Amino acid sequence: MHIDLIREQVENRSGLPLDLRFNENHSTLISVKREQGFLKASVHKMFLEAPTPVVEALIRYLSNRNKRMSSVLRRYIADAYKDLDYSHRVDPTKIITSGQVHDLEAIYNAVNQEYFNEKLNLRVTWYGRPVLSKGQRITFGLYCDPLRLIKIHRLLDRDLCPEYVISFIVYHEALHHVHPPFVDKQGKSRIHNSQFKEKEEAFKYFSEASAWLKDNWDLFFHAA
Ligand SMILES: [Zn+2]
Repeated sequence: MHIDLIREQVENRSGLPLDLRFNENHSTLISVKREQGFLKASVHKMFLEAPTPVVEALIRYLSNRNKRMSSVLRRYIADAYKDLDYSHRVDPTKIITSGQVHDLEAIYNAVNQEYFNEKLNLRVTWYGRPVLSKGQRITFGLYCDPLRLIKIHRLLDRDLCPEYVISFIVYHEALHHVHPPFVDKQGKSRIHNSQFKEKEEAFKYFSEASAWLKDNWDLFFHAA
């Protein structure tokens, strides 16, 4: 759909002039806010090639005060997201794999070899500060799909954390790449879907790693 047509429809529905920009972000694909009698929206370029029902859903989303995204829109984003490859944008100087105790590169390579026939083409890095501040909650691992990047929290880089626990988290994050989230027929987002869980349980030390994470939860969630 032509940009002018999108603008016209959003302006008609919302009664506000629209300042519409297109972006190539890798995290926020749509943002919209009301500002001084204007609607300011930034939408990923992918929507320029989206099928009509998706563009119509986008128009409704941009025009409405109700900020719930329709399942048509969420499904399109989930599908398009896995094809976005912005791995070239990763700054190599920010990739840190060697740790005080654990070597992420070696762990990733072993996981890749054992579970993925060396077919994974992702990067892995430590992230976060090695100390936990009071009340802070951490996420052990993250996967950023468009960057093809797995991030593992530095708090795990210590002697008392067994290597199989880090391998398990790397494996879990890699599975997010192999089994990307989807929006089901009911419009629900499925992240850790059944296929994902089945694969996750195939990890050699699945029960040991899960038990360790459960037993050591306090270590990471209650800073002294
Ligand atoms: Zn996950």
